[in-house]
Amino acid sequence: MNLRTNVFPQHVRLEASTACQLRCPSCPTASGEVGKGIGTGFLRFSEFKKFVDENPRVCDIELSNYGEIFLNNELPHILEYAQKQGVYLHCENGANLNNVSEEALEAIVRYQLRYLSCSIDGASNEIYSIYRKRGNFDTVIANVRKINEWKKKYRSSLPKLRWQFVIFDHNVHELEKARLMAEELDMAFFPKLSWGDLFGTDFSPITNPEAVKKASGLPVASRQEFKEKYGRDYVAKAICGQLWKTPQINFDGKMLGCCLNHWGDFGDVFADGFEEVFNGEKMDYARQMLMGKSPPRADIPCSTCSHYKQYQSENDWMAGPPPDTVSRRREYPAHFYKNLVPGNIKRRIRRLSRLFSRHNLMYTNPGAARCGCRN
Ligand code: SF4
Ligand code: SF4
Repeated sequence: MNLRTNVFPQHVRLEASTACQLRCPSCPTASGEVGKGIGTGFLRFSEFKKFVDENPRVCDIELSNYGEIFLNNELPHILEYAQKQGVYLHCENGANLNNVSEEALEAIVRYQLRYLSCSIDGASNEIYSIYRKRGNFDTVIANVRKINEWKKKYRSSLPKLRWQFVIFDHNVHELEKARLMAEELDMAFFPKLSWGDLFGTDFSPITNPEAVKKASGLPVASRQEFKEKYGRDYVAKAICGQLWKTPQINFDGKMLGCCLNHWGDFGDVFADGFEEVFNGEKMDYARQMLMGKSPPRADIPCSTCSHYKQYQSENDWMAGPPPDTVSRRREYPAHFYKNLVPGNIKRRIRRLSRLFSRHNLMYTNPGAARCGCRN
């Protein structure tokens, strides 16, 4: 039976760096697991250019996942070329912003990175550095201020900044102060539940759930409580949905499928072509597996994944491609532009728009794959 789906995503996730200088206790990059599985390295500008040139349908790329994008010293060239080609770049999974060159600080504004999420779990260096080991709170805030200065200089609203605050027991009391600082720095504020024990390290677990809910405004205080209350996992299905709509590619071209996978791959996109690998037999088989239509297979990374095992044990499968996150009725023009206009047309429109106004926004992507993978 032919199970092929032949889908052509406009939005992809292409890792700019799997290296990170910090040593956050629950992070598989810091423990060396990610490097062992998919290597430690950086996306080269030459590979990025080739990927963009060969894939005119791709018009949005998320650059961050398991590492720190600012350690990639070719980032300014990557940003410049993407802007010329009408490809929107995002850093929504997160950056720690501890080591950023002046050139990169200017480039993210000048070449219009769309969105930058900064991982800052505290409102003082003392609290911040309990989890962000080797990081320095004052340096991070100074870098945010520099970005804001460049935004003023270029009269740009981009990149949109977000303060991501992963909630632990040790930092709950600084949530409110952080929220006020974020406001002063013109950043959206996003309190987030921690990984918990997903990677075997339940660092600083919550002891007072009510205090967390009160300070964060969230209806739950842990991923476990989320599951008990809503009967579904916090992000599992959103992550698996990337296999259909926003596939994750490693810095060296390995197709990883989703942002969680760091132990296997589905082929080499740089060598064999993106659409070929994306619509290849292995990726298609994995989609069928996640829908419960095919049994696990040793060469498919999902077979050993905790999310897949959970679907198996609960007999609760993916229904297919995830639904769009934008309400059709309320945001029809944005929905139409995002989902129905082909990527190559979007890129042409964006290139044309640059002729008239370099920094005006034609369109703000409201729903780029925000899975919240990373602590
Ligand atoms: S959580 Fe982020 S900042 Fe911390 S070590 Fe991992 S990649 Fe680096
Ligand atoms: S089952 Fe695991 S590896 Fe497979 S797509 Fe889902 S999260 Fe990724």
